[in-house]
Amino acid sequence: MLRKPFIAGNWKMYKTSSEAVKFSNDFRMIVSDVKDRDILICAPFTLLQSISQALKGSNVKIGAQNMYFEKEGAFTGEISPLQLLDCGAQYVIIGHSERRHVFGENDSLINKKVASALKTGLLPILCVGELLEEREKGKTEDVVRNQIVEGFKNIDKESAMKVTIAYEPVWAIGTGKNATPEDADKVHAFIRKVLTDLYDAEFSNSIRIQYGGSVKAENIDMLMAKENIDGALVGGASLKTDSFERIVKFKKI
Ligand code: PEP
Repeated sequence: MLRKPFIAGNWKMYKTSSEAVKFSNDFRMIVSDVKDRDILICAPFTLLQSISQALKGSNVKIGAQNMYFEKEGAFTGEISPLQLLDCGAQYVIIGHSERRHVFGENDSLINKKVASALKTGLLPILCVGELLEEREKGKTEDVVRNQIVEGFKNIDKESAMKVTIAYEPVWAIGTGKNATPEDADKVHAFIRKVLTDLYDAEFSNSIRIQYGGSVKAENIDMLMAKENIDGALVGGASLKTDSFERIVKFKKI
């Protein structure tokens, strides 16, 4: 099964609108000839509208980093999937480790968000990954299996096909420590096994699984050479056009 590589940037809580528009104007030119991989920028809510204008007609797609699961209502400070679509977002990151561990999101809330995004027409990137102490206790597979099973709860196969998974070991995010390509590939293969049990082999072979955690220009080629790694979710290195360009234009080895 040929899975199109998918490189996504996660800008986290960085950039003002002038910085974001400048980045977008420059970046769309830099990657205009990239056809064989999907490119996405997940920006803060306040920047979605301006970058969707700046990237209109380009091959760079736009996503948000979080959402609430209700369509509208008295939920002060939250953003709905309809509002994201309205701002030009096509994708949404759900269950990022910073949402899970800084903001206390649990698997049940994350599952509601995945279901709501799919129902509304947004494409979720579901993030999973273990903490350092969980890895050290040999619990990586248990943690990741549980996050996948709970994240896809009550989601039918046809809808679930629209989900991208990002495996992001928490100890590797923003720390400069990345999982070795072999370690990451092993967990990605395990995720495919879990997905085969949940749905079937066709499903598990077609879904894209990104790796995230200190991805940079220096390690992207080795990561993308692995059989089960279909792309990257990139934090820090997506903030500058030169490093993100090198990642998007990873070399096939
Ligand atoms: C992320 O934000 O999802 C991430 C992996 O961050 P970084 O690349 O900075 O580790």
